[in-house]
Parts: sequence; C-alpha cells; structure tokens
Amino acid sequence: MLTTALTTAERIALLGFSDIVKIRNRVLQMRDVIRLEGGEPFMGTPDFVKQAMKDALDAGQTRYAPSSGIPQLLDAIRDKLAAQNRIEATTDQIIVVSGGAHGLFCAFQTTVNPGDEVLFFSPYWTPIRDQVRYCGGVPVLVPWEERLTGLQARVTDRTRVLYVNSPSNPTGIVLTRDELASIARFAVEHNLIVIADEAYEDLIYDGEHVSLASLPGMFERTITVYTLSKSFAMTGWRIGYVVAGEPFMGALRKIVLNSINGVSTPTQFAALAAIRHGVDHLAEMRDEYRRRRDLMVAALNDAGFVVPSPAGAFYLFPDVRARLGNDSWRAMEQLLERTLIASVPGVVFGAEGEGHLRMSFSTSIETIERAVEALHKL
Ligand code: PLP
Repeated sequence: MLTTALTTAERIALLGFSDIVKIRNRVLQMRDVIRLEGGEPFMGTPDFVKQAMKDALDAGQTRYAPSSGIPQLLDAIRDKLAAQNRIEATTDQIIVVSGGAHGLFCAFQTTVNPGDEVLFFSPYWTPIRDQVRYCGGVPVLVPWEERLTGLQARVTDRTRVLYVNSPSNPTGIVLTRDELASIARFAVEHNLIVIADEAYEDLIYDGEHVSLASLPGMFERTITVYTLSKSFAMTGWRIGYVVAGEPFMGALRKIVLNSINGVSTPTQFAALAAIRHGVDHLAEMRDEYRRRRDLMVAALNDAGFVVPSPAGAFYLFPDVRARLGNDSWRAMEQLLERTLIASVPGVVFGAEGEGHLRMSFSTSIETIERAVEALHKL
C-alpha cells in the first residue's frame, strides 16, 4: 500500500488566506470592541430588493437560467451602463457573475499567462495579488503617490495587464477624469489590457466616477467588473457583472460556465429590481456615509493621526506613525488595547501601506459615535 502523504495541487501555494479574517477571529473573542475592521455596508438590503426575490420564488423562478444571466437583467445592466457609466455595451458584452471577487477572478484567469506582469497601484485590495499569482502572473506595484509617473517607470516587455480600482479600497482615492485619461493613454500606448474594478462606483462624496471603458480607445481593451455588494448592501447575495468585448467575453463565458454555471436565478431577479429602481436608495446611502466619514476624519485628525478626507469608498487610511509608531501590526494592537477600536494594519494591503491603519466607516452611527469618543480619550 502507498503511504505517500496526500497533497493539494502546487498552484494552491500561490494563494494566501486573508489576514483580515485573522483579525476578525481575534476581535470576536473580545467584548465591547468598536468594530471598524470590516468592509460591509451597515444597513440591510433595501426591502424592495428582498421583495423582488420573494416574488421570484413565488413565481417559480427556481430553475437553471442562461449561464450568462437572465435577459431582463442583462437589459437593465445595458441601460444602466449607458446612462451612468457612458459605456455603450450590447447585452452580448455583459455577463452576470457571483460578486466582484468572482468577476475579478474570471478576468485575471482570462488574461494573465504565467510570467506576465500585472501593474497595479499599492496599497491595494489584498485578493488582487493572490489572484494575479494564481495565474502565474507577477504583481508589479506602483505606489499611489507615483500614479502619474510610476506606471511609465515600471512597464516592461512582459507587462500585459493594468488593474485599476477607483474609488480605491483601502485608500478612498477617486481618480480624476484627467488622471484616468492619462492612464488610458498609457494603456493604449503600451497595448495593455485593463481590468477596471468599479466596486465602489456609487460611493463618491467628492468629484465624479469616470469609467475607464468610456474613454477613447478603451472599451476594446478593458474588462470592467461591477458588484451589487456595496451599492445595494448586498454583500451576502453574491452578485455582480462584468462588461467586456471580444475576445474576452467568450473566455469569460467559458470560465463562468465551468465554475458556477450561472448565478442563482432568484438572486438575479433581486438584482434586476435593485438596478432598475435603486436610484433613491443610492442618494440616501451616500448621505449616510458622508456624515460618518466627516465625523471620523475630524476625530482622527484631532487625535494626531494624519488623514485626508477620502473622496470615495467607505474606508479611512490614516497615517498613524506620529502617534503609534511605524509598525502597523503593533499600531493595530495598541489602538485595540487603548481604545477598543478594531482596525486593519496598513501593511496587509502592501508594503506601501505600512505606518497606516484601515478603518471602515460603513458602520452604525452608534459605533461611529463610540469610536469618536474613544479617539478623544486616546
Ligand atoms: N473590489 C474591491 C476593491 C473590494 O473592496 C471588494 C470587496 O471588498 C470587491 C471588489 C468584491 O466584492 P464582492 O465580491 O462582495 O462583490
């Protein structure tokens, strides 16, 4: 009988497991923690969206749907893209996926060969590095501060893909139209594929959201990934969509078919309601977040941290070096011990995040008020 130990496929070693989950596990063992370490909308999914799923279930919409998405939802997404994103796509250029994380996974699998270099700004949303490496790709990080010059300095013959996330997790940076136009020119000049992650497109407090795929010469080279998670407080529903032309869409269809064979049918009916009727909800939600952001920015700056007001998303990324030292893991521990505020060490989002902490303001106003009070006593 063979006794060799059973092992997983070698490529599994290329994937990490979230440090944020480790922090959550530690926080769950403590009492009265002020939880700012997460990244979930504080409110529940709007009632009209929940009702749409109940109606779909009652109407017997419980069978396999086309693996790329139900036609009504594809139509609604096409209309939304034209009106909101200035992206003129046909329904053949849209596919429904199981959330942004799945959409990004499919996008990287579609485009990155072993040895290909993938450019992205750092600090970055942590799964991106793993997803690139899982394709055998090489992450090439460009500090956000160098975003206008740093791409040119790091592009090589092996660069194939540029990933852009605006509004950004964790920094809250919203790239301006001029910045995006210059990134677009760079992508065209070097014939790069662009993966645009617009997960936070509806969470903009200052400025505007511009979709890279709407800029000249960009649609044909851009795979844009959207999710309903943040816009409609639907993190647990797992639904999003991807927009791209050929040859990418054909490849995306194959990956979606072979990985999930389509998103749950009743969930797609809920998404249809959210996209068709969600405008009022979006405006209310932005006002709530803006109020939380302003309270937290003032409290953090008063406490001696350095934090610009984030223009988008729902994260604060203060520089805490003056108060808590350079090591962001130690800074996170100290803040937790002294104020009961749970945060995420900036270094988790890349070396460029060292000396910072990420705190989310997507939480109840009571939690924000407790955080403000705790910071005043720090
Ligand atoms: N992109 C960014 C930058 C994110 O922060 C997230 C979630 O936190 C996602 C994509 C994906 O979210 P989901 O998989 O819930 O759609």
